[in-house]
Amino acid sequence: ATPMSVMVGVGKAAEVGVLIRNGEALQMASKITTMVLDKTGTITEGSPTVTDVIITNDKLTKQQILTAAASIESGSEHPLAQAIVKSTAEQGIEPEEVTDFEAITGHGVQAILNGQKLLFGNEKLMLENNVALKGFVDQAQRLADEAKTPMYLAIDNELAAIIAVSDPIKEDSIAAIERLQKNGIRVIMLTGDNRATAKAVAKKVGISEVFAEVLPEDKSNKVAELQAQGEIVGMTGDGINDAPALALANVGFAIGTGTDVAIESADITLMRGSLHGLADGIAVSKATLSNIK
Ligand code: ADP
Ligand code: MG
Repeated sequence: ATPMSVMVGVGKAAEVGVLIRNGEALQMASKITTMVLDKTGTITEGSPTVTDVIITNDKLTKQQILTAAASIESGSEHPLAQAIVKSTAEQGIEPEEVTDFEAITGHGVQAILNGQKLLFGNEKLMLENNVALKGFVDQAQRLADEAKTPMYLAIDNELAAIIAVSDPIKEDSIAAIERLQKNGIRVIMLTGDNRATAKAVAKKVGISEVFAEVLPEDKSNKVAELQAQGEIVGMTGDGINDAPALALANVGFAIGTGTDVAIESADITLMRGSLHGLADGIAVSKATLSNIK
């Protein structure tokens, strides 16, 4: 394409809220064969709310459990932590000060509260700390099958509760994903969340290929694997943990409401947050390449 036609294309895309950083990205977009989509904050709103609190140790009150959860999550910036902090605040729960706070990437958080060790996170975090899950894995599985994310709370390595959150799917994600598939693009979901939750969300939005329980540092490896198979990969994400994958992809798309790191690592920014920007950007790219050679 001529420099003039690229400029026109970049302008056309901007009109529909798709900000293209350079002409190279505009031209590459039409060649994408596989689109990898992050789940949380990309397909979903990224603002989960608490839906279920299951107490698994009846010596504890709901008040004690929610206080422990609020206290440990006060130190985390994860969207799951924000859901806990907001929901407990609405119920008048006051977080207490924890010490020795530590975020364990892809697993959860740990800290000390009133001399007790708190662990809050996924099944892997519990298993690595030898917390017995007893008969409660089935309950977590049931929540995950409902597309919710279950988290386990352990106090002094004893299971205390399961708290689940649900993150609504953006209203136009289903239609936007269908548009990509109608363009012949293979669509894959990529997430750190557990497999059952990821599969349930994927089913709702019409995605059949899912990479779940992927640690942040492994997200870009998945992009590399697809490229090694000969795919031209588009990657769409919003989080800090998506940044390396966005940078490595043939075309990286950041959600405009996402983190600055994601936006800086991407070639294209979807200012409206909607995944329709993907098919819109690809359409402009195709028009640019076909009109003026
Ligand atoms: P993603 O952002 O794609 O969900 P992460 O790698 O950030 O992936 O997290 C993976 C999983 O680790 C989460 O689904 C959750 O189960 C657990 N986890 C991570 N951070 C927290 C946290 N602050 N509180 C509770 N659980 C967490
Ligand atoms: Mg995300």
